[in-house]
Amino acid sequence: MSDIYLSVVVPVYNEEESLEALSDRLMPVLENLKKPYEVIYTNDGSKDKSLEILKKLHKKYPHHVRIIDFMGNFGQHMAIMAAFEQSRGAVVINLDADLQNPPEEIPKLLAKVEAGHDVVGSFRIKRSDNPLRHIGSRFANFVRGFITDAKMKDQGCMFRAYTRPIVNQVVQGGESHTFIPVLAWRLAQNPTEVGLRHDAREQGDSKYSLYHLIRVAIDLATSFSLVPIQFFTFFGMIVSSLSFLLVLYMVARRIFIGPEAQGVFTLLTIVIFLISVAIMGIGIIGEYVGRMYQNTSKRHRFIIRDIIEEKKK
Ligand code: UDP
Ligand code: MG
Repeated sequence: MSDIYLSVVVPVYNEEESLEALSDRLMPVLENLKKPYEVIYTNDGSKDKSLEILKKLHKKYPHHVRIIDFMGNFGQHMAIMAAFEQSRGAVVINLDADLQNPPEEIPKLLAKVEAGHDVVGSFRIKRSDNPLRHIGSRFANFVRGFITDAKMKDQGCMFRAYTRPIVNQVVQGGESHTFIPVLAWRLAQNPTEVGLRHDAREQGDSKYSLYHLIRVAIDLATSFSLVPIQFFTFFGMIVSSLSFLLVLYMVARRIFIGPEAQGVFTLLTIVIFLISVAIMGIGIIGEYVGRMYQNTSKRHRFIIRDIIEEKKK
């Protein structure tokens, strides 16, 4: 392939206020490495001036900046996936566009790669997000720890380094709704984690609404294991055993004591509870069926409108 050492991958969705500041901080850090590098921005269907600004950055650094322009919004993880596919570096680092991940921390990630780790994860020292996000993320971490066997401190921080073999495997996997840090972590032979600074978002708002956060959490829960559905089966087995005992008791009661009519509301409460559990179960099954549908329908995970880069001679 080529001799590029580092590819920096940045997903971009409506980040017009941050992109120039990011570039101004990122490029000197990369220059300082004194090794060949590239920066790949994926414009994930931004509706603001992000693409224009990216084109300007490409003009300014034609040899170093490449742009993937998506035809629509396919989400952060697909934006990263597309950039992984295009990346040429021996090492790939993923960075948010909003400067919450300080580019100055890149050498710390690279030091760990140099020390022989194939995936370098990160956890946020002193996270700067609103408290609700904080709690939500703690919870997601807990659920992920429970459901997948990935032992990582903080899956939510995207600021990570991956070596070429890992990137290739992630790309080959061809998954559509996935969570790249967890996926890569499970492929890693020798992963490690470093604590990195995490700054508050200075410009714009988080691109994640509550709805999207819940969607990503469900993807996280269902893309790596069958534990949710097995848990459900397990619950069903316990409840049905207990109800069978109850049936035996009721039959005996009917024979020896006679019919009973009290306790209608107790019954109602139990029935409502069980119905709601059943509805949730259908939902969980639906998530898995949905995944199968997405994977078998072979629909595009993302559509690239254009790739803007220096053409190779
Ligand atoms: N992002 C994206 N597509 C989306 C949502 C977000 O490419 O649909 C990008 C966004 O531009 C940013 C990164 O993903 O570079 C993280 O998004 P954000 O900062 O909004 O998430 P948070 O930091 O709040 O988790
Ligand atoms: Mg952010």
